[in-house]
Parts: sequence; C-alpha cells; structure tokens
Amino acid sequence: MATKWPSVAYHFHLDREVTIAEAIEMREGDDPRAGDIWCHAECYKGEPRTGNRLFPVNLPSCPYFRRGKRSYTRAVDCEFERVMLSKGESYRFAQFYHDLLVWLNSGDGKENPSELFHISGVEESKSKVADIVISHTEKAPIDWTETRIIIVDKNRRRKASNEHTLVIDITHWTDSQLADFSNSGIRKMIDEWNQLLAKEAERGRQQEERTQYDAEEMKWIENNQLFILQARAIKHRTKLRYDHHDSNRKKLQASIEPQISGPEERVSEITIVEARAALTQLDIDDNIREMKRKKSLIGMSEIVVARKIKAAHEEVERKTRIGTNPHRRVKLGYYTYDFAYLENLSKEYTEGTLSESGY
Ligand SMILES: [Zn+2]
Repeated sequence: MATKWPSVAYHFHLDREVTIAEAIEMREGDDPRAGDIWCHAECYKGEPRTGNRLFPVNLPSCPYFRRGKRSYTRAVDCEFERVMLSKGESYRFAQFYHDLLVWLNSGDGKENPSELFHISGVEESKSKVADIVISHTEKAPIDWTETRIIIVDKNRRRKASNEHTLVIDITHWTDSQLADFSNSGIRKMIDEWNQLLAKEAERGRQQEERTQYDAEEMKWIENNQLFILQARAIKHRTKLRYDHHDSNRKKLQASIEPQISGPEERVSEITIVEARAALTQLDIDDNIREMKRKKSLIGMSEIVVARKIKAAHEEVERKTRIGTNPHRRVKLGYYTYDFAYLENLSKEYTEGTLSESGY
C-alpha cells in the first residue's frame, strides 16, 4: 500500500510531516478528522496552492492517506507525484525527493547545505541517471563540477551512472524515519557526501602514487643509461636468435613432411627416408629447445633486465670490497652473461652492427 497511496504527509497544524499512524492517533473518539493534511509542505504553501488534500483511512491491514473525493478525477496536481510517476517510483520516494529538494535550496538551519556541498545551483533532473543534480561553486575544493543524486525506494533498477553520484536508498526506512527528514534525511545526505569525498581522496592518492612511481622509473632510466642500453642489446640479440631458430624449425618441418607422405615402393628407400626424417626431427627439437631457452628473457621488460644487470654489478663491487674475487657476470633468464660480453653487445648495438651471430 505504501507505494499505491502515501503513508507520510504534511500536517498543517504541526507544520511538519506525519505518518499515517500518527494521523490516526490524532483522531478524537469516533471523529474521523485528524486535521488539515496535504501531500507536501511545498504544495500546500505554494502560491497559488497546488497538490492534493489528504484524509487518513484506517484500513486495519494497511492504513493510508487517500486523496479528497473531488480530486479523484482530476489529473495529478502535485509536482512531486509527477516526478514519482515519471521515475517509476513510490509515494515515499516523492516525499523524500520533496524534502531533500527543499532542504538543498534552503540557506538556513544549523547545517547549511550550500556551504556543506559548495552549491551554486540545484536542478531537478528528468533523466534516468539522476533525480537531483547539484552544481558546485568554482571555489569548491573538489575537482568535479556536479554531483548527481538518485533516491531509490521501489525502483531498484536505478543505479549510479558515474563516480560522482550519491545513491540514497530509503527502501528499509520506516514511515516515521521518513517523516523525520531533519534528522535521518539530512544525516544520510551528509554521510553519503562524506563517503564520496573519501572515495575521491583515495582515488587521488592512488593517482599520485602512480605518477610518482612513473617519475621514479623515468629518473632511474635516465641515470642508468649504460645498463638500459645493455638490456636493450641483449634483448635484441636474443630475439634475433629466437627468430633464427624459429625459421630453421619451419624449414626443417617443411622438408620432411612431403617425403613422409610421398608414395614409396621400395623398402630400402623408405628406410633411408625415415632415417633422414628422424635426424631432421632431432634438428627440429634442438631448435625448439633453443627457442624455449630464449623466451623468458624476451618476455622481461627492458627496465627489469637493466635492474638485474645493475644489481649484479653492485653485488660484484660489494664482494670485491670484502676481498673475494667474484665472477663478473649476471643471470638473465636461462643464460648467464659476462659483463664484458654485455658491454661489447651494447657497443655493437649502438654502432648498428649487432646481428644474430657472433659471441
Ligand atoms: Zn504534493
């Protein structure tokens, strides 16, 4: 029933919202009157007045506010009800929407919304992705310009569509909590706003960390050009050799296939062909093994290889200082390389003479 008829309404005498239960309690004896009750404060106070006058109905299973009999036939005269219908939402939604809109537009009270949320404008939104859109002042200490608000009661398909959206879910609110906007509603709005600020701060922090990491890496590359160049050269040489083995493998593969499938009559020839094929297969396996050994180095990034080379140099220096005589070499993937080899390779690379052959 809560979605079919309102369960919270504006009570003129109390000048606040009341629940249907409260309204029924206000009745004196059998007198059905409970005061002057309207759909929303704004509708009642509007000049000219809009909205609908409401009357409590004490249906024991589900009490509700009904509209005045004369207004049954007329089209919706309440702006908030119109919004509710267009969003596929409930009367509870309409009440909260009204309360929130009125509060956001107010400049008074101990919690000042325009200061709290840096408001330069509040707009009702007809779109699916927002009910209310707050525009922020230029001086706002945030880096987005507007925040969307979605209020959800019964239409659960309504979800945030961007990161600057506050979703206020009132599905589990009781009618008295709904009627108490100045406490529950305001606190909820402030809480959701603070959550958004915290999420944004966290994202900013992560972004900064990434930028800093990138900057550190750039600096490392700049200061270690020697090792970067060696890494580039050894990666290049390894890739050339990998490709060389790969093309060998393909050629060998192609050379045995037609012979095996060819029609051979004489036993002795078949034996020769088979023997050749077996030898070729060994060659193919050799090439595949070489390729496998090169794969891990090819897969490493240049900076990772460079860091490994530098670490090996530092290790050698450390060992030299304590008087041992270490091997001047580094393990990169499957193979281990002498420092002198890498230095020579980077020289060849710089000169443009690096090929797949050579030591
Ligand atoms: Zn209304």
